[in-house]
Amino acid sequence: MPELPEVETVVRTLRPAIVGRRILNAEFRQLRVLRGSAQDTMEALAGRKIKSIERHGKFIAIKLDKGFLVVHLGMTGKLLVNAEQTKWTHAIFTLDRGMLHYDDQRQFGRIEYGDELPARVAALGPEPLEVSLPEFTRRVKERKSPIKAVLLNQAVVRGVGNIYADEALFRAGVHPKRASAALGKDRIERIYNAMREVLAEAIESRGSSVSNYVDADGRKGSFQQAHRVYRRTGEACLKCGGVIKRIVLAQRGTHFCGTCQR
Ligand code: ZN
Repeated sequence: MPELPEVETVVRTLRPAIVGRRILNAEFRQLRVLRGSAQDTMEALAGRKIKSIERHGKFIAIKLDKGFLVVHLGMTGKLLVNAEQTKWTHAIFTLDRGMLHYDDQRQFGRIEYGDELPARVAALGPEPLEVSLPEFTRRVKERKSPIKAVLLNQAVVRGVGNIYADEALFRAGVHPKRASAALGKDRIERIYNAMREVLAEAIESRGSSVSNYVDADGRKGSFQQAHRVYRRTGEACLKCGGVIKRIVLAQRGTHFCGTCQR
């Protein structure tokens, strides 16, 4: 699933291609990816000018001269500029210059138009790259769940998913099962710094292409080559040489080193 660095990369590649453009026509071929009525959405979008594009956690908010077009890429969603149509092209936006496609093989992504940002987007926690250490500490300490589950909770911080939670906890040397409320100041600070470091490095590498992720120009990211624990089950820990383990936590495969992470 695209997480913060992947969605940020999509937004950065889309920005020069679509900001300032006008939407001439919107067409939806698979209604499962659309929230709301296709007819109303097509009518609302026709003629709208694209003012800006921003990321909110894993959501993409395209601000129009009236209203917002909000996209969540789900598991396999792609927003592509001037791409070939495929059998998974579910939405086609014809711009006054160029085309924007929404492709989604597994169809867990969603597109939504509204006058305002949807409430569930506005209710997300702060951006991990913007939240202060005291604010992060307060948010972590008020949760009783294991720290891995808390990092995945979009109401705590927005945009961290399975890959970056595992990678951040490895770098911080903190066991994913540790109860958040009981974490000491020192461990929380290590998690905070590791989370920001791993997200910043991943953005720099244009994200991780673990399944079919590509940016708006169809290019893959390279951060998967820098993963230290994620999907390295049974391989040697890069720090201590021990074996990377996998457990299921918060219904997600969780990868860690039991020696380095305490
Ligand atoms: Zn280790």
